[in-house]
Amino acid sequence: MNSHYEYDVVVIGAGHAGTEAALAAARMGARTALLTMNCDTVGQMSCNPAIGGVAKGQIVREIDALGGEMGRVIDETGIQFRMLNSGKGPAMHSPRAQADKKAYQFAVKHRVEQQENLSLRQEMVEEILAEPDPQGETHTEDGTAVPRMRITGVRVRGDAVYRTRAVIVTTGTFLQAIMHTGEAKAAGGRAGEGTTGTLSDSFRRLGFTLERFKTGTPARLNGRTIDHSVLKEQPGDENPVPFSFLTERITQPQISCWLTETNAGVHELIRENLHRAPMYSGQIDSTGPRYCPSIEDKIVRFAERQSHQIFLEPEGRNTLEYYCNGISTSLPRDVQDRMIHSIRGLEKAEIMRYGYAVEYDFAPPTQLFPTLETKRVGGLYFAGQINGTTGYEEAAGQGLLAGANAALSLQGAEPLILDRSQAYLGVLIDDLVTKGVDEPYRMFTSRAEYRMLLRHDNADRRLTPLGHRVGLVSSDRWSRHERYEEEIQRALSLLQSRRHEGNTLEEWLRRPEIGWDDLCGFSADVAALDVPDRVRQQVTVEVKYAGYIRRQEMEIQRQAKVQSVPIPATFDFHAIPQLRVEAREKFSRVRPSNLGQAGRISGITPADLAVLMLYLKEPRRMAT
Ligand code: FAD
Repeated sequence: MNSHYEYDVVVIGAGHAGTEAALAAARMGARTALLTMNCDTVGQMSCNPAIGGVAKGQIVREIDALGGEMGRVIDETGIQFRMLNSGKGPAMHSPRAQADKKAYQFAVKHRVEQQENLSLRQEMVEEILAEPDPQGETHTEDGTAVPRMRITGVRVRGDAVYRTRAVIVTTGTFLQAIMHTGEAKAAGGRAGEGTTGTLSDSFRRLGFTLERFKTGTPARLNGRTIDHSVLKEQPGDENPVPFSFLTERITQPQISCWLTETNAGVHELIRENLHRAPMYSGQIDSTGPRYCPSIEDKIVRFAERQSHQIFLEPEGRNTLEYYCNGISTSLPRDVQDRMIHSIRGLEKAEIMRYGYAVEYDFAPPTQLFPTLETKRVGGLYFAGQINGTTGYEEAAGQGLLAGANAALSLQGAEPLILDRSQAYLGVLIDDLVTKGVDEPYRMFTSRAEYRMLLRHDNADRRLTPLGHRVGLVSSDRWSRHERYEEEIQRALSLLQSRRHEGNTLEEWLRRPEIGWDDLCGFSADVAALDVPDRVRQQVTVEVKYAGYIRRQEMEIQRQAKVQSVPIPATFDFHAIPQLRVEAREKFSRVRPSNLGQAGRISGITPADLAVLMLYLKEPRRMAT
């Protein structure tokens, strides 16, 4: 007889999306089960042992501001911290840190284990269980109305069933996954691990479309065999900036990374062996991330380049394993050996793990609402790499929001949907559900319209009140946040009320050459102001960039009037004869919830929008 278990929320997969999803749902009061293939790989970094980077660092801050764990865990387990783009304006500053990979993973697992309301269980999920929803209706990709289903549970290997009202799928690169190293192929979503075929079949039976993407990873080396004496050292920042707003200071010692580069000999070797690379031999025909190319892609696409940089990144404090950032590859083993040995400093390096590419199923994300709930099956949510994204941060952010929305839906409360002007996470999810993906999606600052507002330094001011409202944020974080806001207001009022040579200190601070230290020279009260450095830095950025910030805020208000015009869920786009066929099909497929989202669908023209607006204002016009 089957074993049955009952939970409010079931999360499948304990990677970056799954752990944040499960923690969020449990913190919001839902009895949650986190089911994962292997309890020893909870929170594992499949690829690069690093968190953050350009635009991704901002996302980690946003996850943290919403009460997520990624920021605190990397602060605790980081081995090298750097603020990227610190020479540019504040919108571009992006925190990044190398992680002690194993310590990171154990810290994530420990947080999951400690969480009330959350059960971590080693299970292989094989089937999604759903039943027809008598009240539900949804649309197929071509806009045809079909009955909607609703989730009832999942079946796991060993014939046990978990009954539940919400399921969040975060299976990463594991669906029908095949790994490639040269001509050699093996089933598995990550080296040393398995794959899940039955789950893809289960999604297809429920009517989901699945497509294939690929990604790759480089070789790992034994540091004992690297000649560091000829490499360029890259130390961490002298004053490392934490990711989490709850971390006062990073106190652990930092470890250096090392730089080397490819050369003409390496390029020649790769060119000679391109026919053995799965991407070029025809063995793989799925799409990989253009912006994160393998070394063989770089040699082909940037044929004029004489060399490409390689960052040798330590994987932890208690291991000598190094990650070779910049030379991801799926070339055969013998070519990888020769390639590594032709690089300065690596002439005698021993490969511990060979690089490989992995192909996997993902579910095109236009099948989702902005809550990350699927349109086909009520109560079923997708988050992370299954949505066609790549990266730990993108996955974790989606997981957190899917977990929160599952819990909110069970409470019958309003969903948590972030606007593009509120967060990079808002940009990410809006892009996914509105435009879909044609290659693995990673975040860039250029994807956001309001970069000046979406800075890493103000993520808590943007999002912690929202997180508090829905119950994601702890009382400790909230009281610290309130104190911080009060200190910012106190500091600002002081600058507005004190004068120097006729101008207020706020006016002085707007000048590019004037900093906080100058103000201390102008006013003893400012010098005596007892607030943390973070407060001074926040006030300085807000004052110096007030003009840009105000302009972006005005633009948002202007856009909001038009964009927020709602589109009813049952709106029949096919009943508008003046709409182009392509526009009708795209609107029916995406089913935008307002005019703003309708306008962001790729291929939609201003003329399509004008027609739609007319019909939204005067529904009488609709063809019946
Ligand atoms: P994952 O971290 O993959 O977690 C999935 C979880 O689901 C795992 O715990 C797994 O055990 C579990 N699971 C799967 N199926 C089942 C099932 N049926 N039942 C129970 N549990 C299940 N990102 C980058 O940003 N840059 C890169 O260069 C890069 N390269 C990569 C190279 C490789 C080879 C791989 C594998 C990944 C790479 N990534 C890269 C992607 C990065 O690892 C992912 O984006 C990120 O880990 C996705 O997080 P996730 O939570 O969606 O999935």
